[in-house]
Amino acid sequence: MTLFDSPDFEGHEGVHAFYDEKTGLKSIIAVHSTARGPAAGGCRMWDYASADAALTDALRLSRGMSYKNAMADLDFGGGKAVIIGDARSQKTPELFEAFGRAVDSLGGKYWTAEDVGVSPADLTATRRTTRYVAGLEGHAAASGDPSPVTAEGVFRGVRLCVQRAMNRDLQGVKVAIQGVGHVGAYLAEKLHAAGAKLVIADVNQQALNEVAAKTGAEIVPVDAIFDVEADVFAPCALGGAISTATLPRLKVKVIAGGANNQLADGTIGQAVFERGILYAPDYVINGGGIINVAAEIRALEAGGSFDPAWVATKLDRLAQTLGEVLDHSLTDKRPANLVADEIARARIAAARG
Ligand code: NAD
Repeated sequence: MTLFDSPDFEGHEGVHAFYDEKTGLKSIIAVHSTARGPAAGGCRMWDYASADAALTDALRLSRGMSYKNAMADLDFGGGKAVIIGDARSQKTPELFEAFGRAVDSLGGKYWTAEDVGVSPADLTATRRTTRYVAGLEGHAAASGDPSPVTAEGVFRGVRLCVQRAMNRDLQGVKVAIQGVGHVGAYLAEKLHAAGAKLVIADVNQQALNEVAAKTGAEIVPVDAIFDVEADVFAPCALGGAISTATLPRLKVKVIAGGANNQLADGTIGQAVFERGILYAPDYVINGGGIINVAAEIRALEAGGSFDPAWVATKLDRLAQTLGEVLDHSLTDKRPANLVADEIARARIAAARG
């Protein structure tokens, strides 16, 4: 199979491979679409088993960013970069400078930022060789940690889902949260303040203790989170939480959380729908983080400061969009993930003209 026939290619505008002999940089930058504006999406550093695996990841992530940015109503297209290498042992400032040169060679078609394996310190090196980088610290446009904004978007999304599925507010609603890291912990605090009862699981005992102390949450073993008698399951850990193995165990009416790629495969959304569970598509409900990053790019381009009011307006709009997705799903009796994909594709096509 060639690149162009691969199911992951899906109309990418550009797929760029970079190699720098001096630093050993091997990077792929995939630009899915610039129809709505420059492609924006983070850079992941990962010890991929092969260049093919890196390419597949870049293509999937890049298309995902197109959809996420469109659903967050941002004037950005979708792109993603991957650097092939071990983030624990193979990072150097020179490597990230070489990566910056690669980004710069695309002339502003792609803006990079943090993702797994890449830190603000790495991006500081990247910034020396390109201006198309967001997620830096210590300047007026800086957007800082996106997690509180992501969590606020997810909180509103949970509330919307509960209204739609159960016709009630969050008081007394039981939410099972998988993963109480950055997003999960902020989400837990917001849900607790709204009167929800919490059950939490994490592999990190200290994170669990901190959240439980603040919110009175009940702690359960990592694998038991799928069996909790709750109203809402909120995946906030890694991808793939909803699979053919875990779905039959869930007793909830709503799945709504911050994690990326919650559905283990393309068919599980249909199964979620058939079980009568209302699902908030992950890349819609967790769009707060990219809204935060977009505010930084906007400020950098204008030579201005980060504008929290702009972020707040976009978050309101995000909740509206999620509401539209849920309504279409319920009225047309179709899985919410497919409804969201359709709306995202229509928004991108409309911008293409
Ligand atoms: P994080 O690393 O701070 O938190 C993840 C938590 O999940 C950690 O506490 C970890 O110990 C826990 N965990 C790992 N494996 C687990 C398991 N098997 N069971 C239960 N807990 C487990 O990451 P984060 O920034 O909070 O992001 C969480 C998810 O949200 C990720 O999927 C991320 O891609 C997604 N996301 C985050 C943001 C953001 O703004 N941070 C934005 C959009 C999407």
